[in-house]
Amino acid sequence: MFLLQKRGQLSCLELSWPGARAVFTTRSGGTSQGPYSALNLGLHVGDDPEAVLENRRRLAASMEREAASFTACQQVHGTLVAVVDRRHKGMGALDLESAIEGADGMITKEPVVLFAFFADCVPIWLYDPVQKAGGVIHAGWRGTAAGIVLEALAKMKSHFGSKPEDLYAAVGPSIGPCCYQVGEEVVRSLKELAEREQLSSASISLSREGKWHADLAGFNCQLLQAEGVRKERIALCNLCTSCHSSLFFSHRRDGAKTGRMAAIFYLQEDENETKEKNN
Ligand SMILES: [Zn+2]
Repeated sequence: MFLLQKRGQLSCLELSWPGARAVFTTRSGGTSQGPYSALNLGLHVGDDPEAVLENRRRLAASMEREAASFTACQQVHGTLVAVVDRRHKGMGALDLESAIEGADGMITKEPVVLFAFFADCVPIWLYDPVQKAGGVIHAGWRGTAAGIVLEALAKMKSHFGSKPEDLYAAVGPSIGPCCYQVGEEVVRSLKELAEREQLSSASISLSREGKWHADLAGFNCQLLQAEGVRKERIALCNLCTSCHSSLFFSHRRDGAKTGRMAAIFYLQEDENETKEKNN
């Protein structure tokens, strides 16, 4: 379950597994002004870069880490999931140009901090406590309908030997079906994948006004389960980014001039193992 935790001036939604941690930032505790107030972590949205870098430094400091060591990917609404190791440390941490090219997801088995940016899209974390590997994925409607979560599961299997039944997953704050009206193209794409994966529904509904609304978080939860991830191991944070303006930026609600939250994944030493070692 995600819990709202104070990290100095920051408030983050956090989830801990034995051996790994998922963090999702909120707007509070940053230095950005106006529509980017306050903890905007995106460098590509027109905010003052110095403010964004200061925000990234504050976030890293709250984890007793250096922002310069974080690893980010380009996020192009595709399905590429990068396998990250120490050599990728710092890519995209303090600029846009060095982010891992063409990728929307990152998985790792090494002590790197993975860092991705969100306004309404769905953040998904995967963690395998057996192989001690995991990562974070950016899934908007294009990535969701193109099956990026399936790609991430396949890569966890091929690179780390992960079995779906061993995995934990978390699906973070994103735009809910309450606020996410979509057009025919989205409906068609989700229906196609739902059919291929034999899901019970395409997670779309018709409003009273006759408009389609999509539940991308719910759709990704269905995909995870269809691939063998156990329902009780999936943590779904049911907060809508558009409904909660004091907590979150929302592209749909605020338009192009808005900030980005960050989803973070890192492996950490299991507390029980540490205790055993110390005894
Ligand atoms: Zn909403």
